[in-house]
Amino acid sequence: MTPEREAAYRAGLNEALQAAATVLNKGGSSLDAIEAAIQLLEDNPLFNAGRGAVFAADGTNQLDSAIMDGATLRAGAVADVTRTRHPISLARAVMERSPHVMLIGPGADAFAASVHLEQVPPSFFFTEARWRDLVHDLEGQGLPVPPRPAGAPAAPATDKPRSSLFDLSDDGHRYGTVGVVALDRRGNIAAGTSTGGLTAKRWNRVGDSPVIGAGTYASNESCAVSGTGVGEYFIRYTVARSICALVQYKGMKLQEAADDVVQRQLGAAHGDGGIIAITPDGQLVWSFNTPGMFRARIQEGGRAEIAIYKDEP
Ligand code: ASP
Repeated sequence: MTPEREAAYRAGLNEALQAAATVLNKGGSSLDAIEAAIQLLEDNPLFNAGRGAVFAADGTNQLDSAIMDGATLRAGAVADVTRTRHPISLARAVMERSPHVMLIGPGADAFAASVHLEQVPPSFFFTEARWRDLVHDLEGQGLPVPPRPAGAPAAPATDKPRSSLFDLSDDGHRYGTVGVVALDRRGNIAAGTSTGGLTAKRWNRVGDSPVIGAGTYASNESCAVSGTGVGEYFIRYTVARSICALVQYKGMKLQEAADDVVQRQLGAAHGDGGIIAITPDGQLVWSFNTPGMFRARIQEGGRAEIAIYKDEP
């Protein structure tokens, strides 16, 4: 990665971290902190969520998100959203303003409109870098390349702006799902996740992020977890809930539980990915089996830690 791009990622992480910390320092809830931070990451084209989401094989951005409240076990999730600017806010609205846990597709966007969440044309989520990733991926698989989406900016005159800050294709950065876990002053934990899924996904594939217990889980009895990686593995290994179950039933420390699932179980299965997690008593950990994971954390009165590569503290 170029130093400029690395700096941009660190700035994006720091901005989200500070937004969450500001909410928590004012006595706000973990849910409010999570929503504030994820909205910023959804609006940041560097990350695979909201604007900047990867493209499905048909040339659309299909967005998935979930949020879970550890205090009550209430949860909300959405999949295949194409018109709602902030899928994390929609997931929260599903949790708080509908009798359901999971909504998908046009129905989910219709619900978002009915509760007055901002709607945008699907081309709002378009970025040139992600489009180039899609074309590259489809060509590699010998699959047809769809036309550029309606409303997308005209194709650049040259296909060589590879040095652009927002060209993600050459940095080995595969999973850009965003997630936040938080602990508030009342002792409540929560988790939230938002993603565009995997590049060139087909057939309305849904990943782990909106699947409660797979990519997102929270319970004050154990822990809150948000994951990123190959969703198919995270679903089959019920990654988020498995970590919390080890904490809850086996009495493991959070780091040990996270490493057991992410390093030992997923690692053995070649399921790439990582997680961030927190407990009500303030254990705040990450674990990943990839060469790096964009990550940041802060504790009250402490210093922000922001890291990308494996060997950073
Ligand atoms: N976990 C996401 C999915 O499979 C992808 C990612 O983490 O970037 O949908």
